[in-house]
Amino acid sequence: MIDIKSMSQEEMTDFLRELGEPAFRGKQIFTWLHRGVTSFDDMSNVSKALRQKLQERCYITAPSVARKQVSQLDGTMKYLWQLRDGNCIETVLMRYHHGNTVCISSQVGCRMGCAFCASTIAGKVRDLTPSEMLDQVLFTQLDAGEEISNIVLMGIGEPMDNLDNVLKFLELVNHPDGLNIGMRHISLSTCGVVPGIERLAELRLQLTLSVSLHAPDSETRSRIMPVNRAYDVEQLFDACHRYFEKTGRRISFEYAMIDGVNDHDWQADLIARRIHGMPGHVNLIPLNDVVESPFKPSKRVAAFQKRLESHGITATVRRSLGGDIDASCGQLRRKAMEEKGGLA
Ligand code: SAH
Repeated sequence: MIDIKSMSQEEMTDFLRELGEPAFRGKQIFTWLHRGVTSFDDMSNVSKALRQKLQERCYITAPSVARKQVSQLDGTMKYLWQLRDGNCIETVLMRYHHGNTVCISSQVGCRMGCAFCASTIAGKVRDLTPSEMLDQVLFTQLDAGEEISNIVLMGIGEPMDNLDNVLKFLELVNHPDGLNIGMRHISLSTCGVVPGIERLAELRLQLTLSVSLHAPDSETRSRIMPVNRAYDVEQLFDACHRYFEKTGRRISFEYAMIDGVNDHDWQADLIARRIHGMPGHVNLIPLNDVVESPFKPSKRVAAFQKRLESHGITATVRRSLGGDIDASCGQLRRKAMEEKGGLA
């Protein structure tokens, strides 16, 4: 069976041509799918015969809401979606004054092993398909009844570890006949998979690349992020500088402040030295306490920010949303499946 929603419009047109259909059918069916129809029978301007043919060959992905939580603090919503094969993934909807941002997952689980992150504890189960990433945006929008203007690929998973599907998803969500969300409204976050950064640079997309830095020296970084043992921080910054040269896009460096580990002034100085020569932006994240992790939040966030700014580096402190529903950075995991009750 074919996952029809993962097809680009061109692929869909070719596929329909093979079924003996005129070219405009591709656009027609693509449009239906990107509006969120869950059955071919809902495609009212498509003949019954064709609907039948499609039904025999393809399926339409449509996750079901396994659980939905709304933060009492700020209205942030966390969805636990159940996929066709029973796996579950999380999506977070954040409401800001400038519009709604959805934080989507790119894999079921994660194999990157960052020591402070809850999403990686159980390892990776599988990659998400383009349609499953699109569905998180589409069905969150439909369920919440609110338009989504921004997407961050910052949920569970490492986008660069599933880059083919992520790129396909970007093409889909960006399409004028689909959700039509502009690249400038999309951020992609990576723990620092250098070949992925290099590949993305070649495409010169206008999205925002976020790099989860968390330490500017290899000793500390290797300790908290195993990916640094494969691509160390020097290689990472070389790739970032080349990325900026190619795309002209400012990179955002994510930095979760961990008490006594990465919050020393000398580390702020080293960040500044490494960023020198490109317009980097550092986003300081107050570490979210993950029960299983030995790390504690730093008390030096403001001092660290000042130190960076003294070197001319823009540094902001990320506001934490959804703290009462475990929806903040690094807290997403599949524990909700094990819990009973509380279903919205
Ligand atoms: N794999 C990608 C996408 C995950 S994004 C990446 O690593 O960038 C999630 C962001 O939250 C990353 O910057 C991650 O490092 C950060 N994060 C993980 N655990 C955290 C925690 N306990 N507190 C604060 N931020 C955390």
